[in-house]
Amino acid sequence: MKCSKCDKPAVIALQHGTLCANHFLTYFEERVFKTIKQYKLFNEKDVIAVACSGGKDSQTVLYLTKKYFLKQNLPLKNLWALAIDEGIKGYREKTLNDLKKFCKKEKITLKIISAKKELSYTLDAALKKLKQKKLPEKPCHICGVWRRYLINKAAREGKATKLVTGHNLDDEAQVFLMNLFKANTSLMSHLGPVTGISNHEFFVQRVKPLYLCPEKEVRLYSILKKFPVEFVECPYAQEGYRAQIRDMLNEFENKYRGTKQGIIQSFLTLMPMLKENARKGTGALLLCKKCGEPANQEVCHACKILEKLK
Ligand code: SF4
Ligand code: ZN
Repeated sequence: MKCSKCDKPAVIALQHGTLCANHFLTYFEERVFKTIKQYKLFNEKDVIAVACSGGKDSQTVLYLTKKYFLKQNLPLKNLWALAIDEGIKGYREKTLNDLKKFCKKEKITLKIISAKKELSYTLDAALKKLKQKKLPEKPCHICGVWRRYLINKAAREGKATKLVTGHNLDDEAQVFLMNLFKANTSLMSHLGPVTGISNHEFFVQRVKPLYLCPEKEVRLYSILKKFPVEFVECPYAQEGYRAQIRDMLNEFENKYRGTKQGIIQSFLTLMPMLKENARKGTGALLLCKKCGEPANQEVCHACKILEKLK
């Protein structure tokens, strides 16, 4: 198989043709930069915290955000990386080590926030205790609540005006389908290339430069760029509903190429309506009466989990 643009061997077949390594890298980067511009993800005044796990998505988005800063002559002092150590033995320490190596090489400041330090528990310890108390919770639920909570708090305290995340097209298509299957239409309004409330003193708005990039392309990009990624899997990853949606979508994509793109395009068409409905339906944003962080109820989800652990 040869590249459709030159004579070199192709590394990927896309919907519109095949590409060699160099042409793929350019194609991929251009799409990310176009997404940043098209959805106005950030501008020269923004201070960017890039939320990182250390995996391929976060290293790719961090690398390309820096590249965009350099391309646009934006000040690099306004870019830093942020990671959460939830405390998942055998997994998180490996991805954080990869991230440390990457940030050192790229000369990007990295701040790591520990769940154990901030919330008194590692994720492993919290799950064990809840199981003992016969109050089991899904690992990914606690992990997601903690991560959102700690990332928002740390980004705000670090004076970030935007939070870049490494969510890719597959992530978004999976969550969209999950919400569709569970009739969580209000949660769908939290999706899209820009999420969260703008100009809120407690919330840092989230933006997703990899929004239109399929997972397999992000993976290939990170391999071709030789990013230090170990491709380890979280020990809790197989347990969820989401993993089944992912497998089903991959199976469909293999049979009917373009399925994931189709889902995202449908969502983007519906997005203005979903966001408008959500704006009408929500009252004023609350602040948790226990910790003072943003919440959609009197007590935030992170504090509710801590209450169960008492
Ligand atoms: Fe957290 Fe679940 Fe992801 Fe593991 S798979 S890092 S528990 S969200
Ligand atoms: Zn709280």
